[in-house]
Amino acid sequence: MSEVIVIGGGVMGAATACFLARDHGAAVTVVERDTSLARASSSLSLSSIRQQFSQPVNMTLSRWSMAFLRRVGEELATADDRPAIGLVEPGYLYLATPAGAASLRAVHALQRAEGVDVALLSPAELAVRFPWLAVDDLALGSLGLSGEGWFDGPALHRAFRRKGKECGVRFVEADAIGFETRGDRVTGLRCADGARIDGHAFVIAAGAWSAPLGAALGLGLPVSAKKRDVFVLQTPAALPGCPLVIDPSGIWFRTEGSLVLAGGPPRGDDADDAPLDDIDHGMFDEQLWPMLAARVPALEALRVRSAWAGYYEMNAFDHNGLAGRLPGWANAFTACGFSGHGMQQSPAVGWSMARLIAGLDAPLIEALTPQRLLDGRPLIEANVI
Ligand SMILES: Cc1cc2nc3c(=O)[nH]c(=O)nc-3n(C[C@H](O)[C@H](O)[C@H](O)COP(=O)(O)OP(=O)(O)OC[C@H]3O[C@@H](n4cnc5c(N)ncnc54)[C@H](O)[C@@H]3O)c2cc1C
Repeated sequence: MSEVIVIGGGVMGAATACFLARDHGAAVTVVERDTSLARASSSLSLSSIRQQFSQPVNMTLSRWSMAFLRRVGEELATADDRPAIGLVEPGYLYLATPAGAASLRAVHALQRAEGVDVALLSPAELAVRFPWLAVDDLALGSLGLSGEGWFDGPALHRAFRRKGKECGVRFVEADAIGFETRGDRVTGLRCADGARIDGHAFVIAAGAWSAPLGAALGLGLPVSAKKRDVFVLQTPAALPGCPLVIDPSGIWFRTEGSLVLAGGPPRGDDADDAPLDDIDHGMFDEQLWPMLAARVPALEALRVRSAWAGYYEMNAFDHNGLAGRLPGWANAFTACGFSGHGMQQSPAVGWSMARLIAGLDAPLIEALTPQRLLDGRPLIEANVI
C-alpha cells in the first residue's frame, strides 16, 4: 500500500498508523508538531474503560478494545519488548437518586440488550458490597461486573508507537497547516516550516486541534479543547473494591493504588483552550470535597497531593468520536473528537480506521461517520463524564 500521512501522534494517530503498517503493510508517516506530547490528551488521560454508554456503537467499541487490552502483550509485542499496561477491572458504578432512577433503568435495559455485563443494585445491596459508601439518598446503582476498569494509557500509547516503528512507521516533527489538493483528492500536506509531505491518503487525528485542519479542507469539525481537572488525593481511608464511581452530583472518583483520583464538571462557562496550569482548587475545596465526603464519609480526611489538567477533544455536535472518510474527499479521513472516551476506544478505532483506509469494510465505526455532521444526524451520547 502506498504512503499514508497521519496528522497527530496521540493515541488515535499512533494506533491507526500501527495497524496500517502491521496489518496492511502500509508505508505510514505520522506528523506530530510536539514530540514531547506534553499537551496531548493521550498524555493526560485517566485511561479508564467502560461499557456503560447509552449508544450501542460505544459499547461495541469498548468491548472490542477491552478484549484487545487483555492480550496487548501479544498484540503489540516487539522483538525486545512485551508491553504491560497494568489493566485492572473493578468496574464502573453509576449511582442514581430517586430522580435519576428511571433513566438509569432505561439505559440499563439498553445495555443488557447489547450484552453488557452490568447489574442494578439496590441501596441495601450497595451497602453490603461497598460498606464505605453512603447510600441513604440513593435509589439505585448500576455496576459493571466485567469488562470495565482502567489501565496505563501512556504505556498503551507507547506500545502502539513502538510496534508501529518496528513495522516501519516514520514519526516526524512538523506543524501541519494545510493541504495541497487536486479535484476530490488531497495530494500533499503543507507544514509551517515550508515543507510539503506528499501521500496517497491523509488522516486528521489531531485531537482537540483537528478543527483548523478540517477547515483547510472546507469542513467544519465541531471539535474544541475543553479543560478537565483531575485531583490526586491522599487519604488514610481504605476503599476496598472501589470501582470508578459516577455520583448523581456529577462528580467521579476511583482509586489508583493507595491514592484516590477525583474530578467533576467544570465551573463557569467551560471556555475553549483554558490554560492547563490554571487548576480550579477553589472548585475542589468548595464543591468536590464536600460532595466526596457526603458520598464516602471516610474521605472527610484527605490531602490533595497533586492535580493535573488535560483537554477533552469535545465534539459539540453529539459528544462522540468522528471516525471515517471526510465527506467530499476520496482519500482524506479523520479520527477525532472522542469527547473524553478516546483512550479506551483507540484499539478498536485504530484497527477500523486502518481497514477503511486499506479499502476494507469497517463496521465497528460506521456509526461514527463524519457524514452525520452534514446530514444533521447527531448520535447523542448521554453518558459523557
Ligand atoms: C483529564 C482527562 C481524562 C480522560 N479520561 C479518559 C478515560 O478515562 N478514558 C478514555 O477513554 N479517555 C479519557 N480521556 C480522553 C482521551 O485521553 C482522549 O480521547 C484521547 O487521548 C484522544 O487521543 P487523540 O490522539 O485523538 O488526541 P491527542 O492525544 O491530543 O493527540 C493529538 C495530537 O495531535 C497533535 N497535533 C495537533 N495539531 C497538529 C498539527 N496541526 N500538526 C501536527 N500535529 C498536531 C497534537 O500535538 C497532539 O499530540 C481523558 C482525557 C483527559 C484530558
